[in-house]
Amino acid sequence: MSPSVLDAYQGPVRDEYARRMGMWRQLRRAGGPLGVRPDVLRELRIYGAAQGIWIDKSAATNSVSPDGAGVTVALMHSGKVLPDDLTDDGLIHRYPHTGRPRGYDLTELRATKNAGFLGLPVFVITVAGARGALRDVRIGWIQDWSDSIAAFLVAFGGIGRPIPCVGEEPGRLFGRAAAAGELETGARATASPKVSVARFRFDTFRRHGYQCAACGITAAELLEPVRVAGGGPADGIVLCASHSKAYRAGLLTIDDAGRVVVRDGVSARALGVTRAATPPQHRR
Ligand SMILES: [Zn+2]
Repeated sequence: MSPSVLDAYQGPVRDEYARRMGMWRQLRRAGGPLGVRPDVLRELRIYGAAQGIWIDKSAATNSVSPDGAGVTVALMHSGKVLPDDLTDDGLIHRYPHTGRPRGYDLTELRATKNAGFLGLPVFVITVAGARGALRDVRIGWIQDWSDSIAAFLVAFGGIGRPIPCVGEEPGRLFGRAAAAGELETGARATASPKVSVARFRFDTFRRHGYQCAACGITAAELLEPVRVAGGGPADGIVLCASHSKAYRAGLLTIDDAGRVVVRDGVSARALGVTRAATPPQHRR
C-alpha cells in the first residue's frame, strides 16, 4: 500500500484510527460485518452499552480528544427511530434525549462531533435477523450536524477512505478545506457531483425544519423531503405524506419562493392546505 491514509493522522489520533481499523478487520474475520451476534461486538469493543451513542471510556478515547469528552466509537440505530432516516448512503442520527442528567447527553454530542473533527470513523450498528437478534455494522463518517434540527449526518463509506467533515463549529481542529484536501487524495476530492439521498434529506430538514409546508403539521414520522421539480439538486421542501402525494398528483405546485400553491379549480380546504400562497388571480 502506497502512502497510507494513516500518514494524514498524528499521535493519539493515528493510534485510535489504527485501533478502529483493527476492530473492523477482526469483525470481518469473525464473519461480519453483517448478521453478527451482539456479544461479538462487545468482545471487539465495538459496542458495549444500551444507549444510542457509545463512547468507550476504557479505551482512552478521552485522551484522543482535546476537550476530554472522548470520541464516539459506535452509533446504535435501534429501529425505534424513523426508518426513513436510514438510507443506502447514510444515516440521520438524532441527538439523544435519554432522560439521564443533561450532562451525559451533552458529552455524547461532543464525542460524536469529535469523531467528525478528528476524521475518525464510527461503527453504525443496526438491528438485523429474525426477532432482531443480530446486528449489521457499517462504517460511518460524521459528515455534518445541525443543532437546530438536533441531528448528525453520517455518511457510509469504507474505513480506508475518510469522508471529510464539513460541520461548522467554533474551535474545530482543522479547516474543512484542509480536511478535504489532506484526507481525500487526487481526483476523488473534486469528484462529488451527486448529492446523496441522506445529504438531501438532512439539508432539506435543516433548511425548512420539521413542518409540512402545506398544512404545518410537525410530527417527524409523517414528514418527508420532496424534490421540487425543475429545481437544483439541493432544492427541496418538506411535506407531510398526504401533501407529498398531492404534489406528485399535480394538485399542488411550489412557487419560486418555495410556497405551496393549490392548482386552479382545486379546493385548498378539500386538500387540507392551510398555508398556501394565494394565487394572484384569486386576490381581491
Ligand atoms: Zn401537510
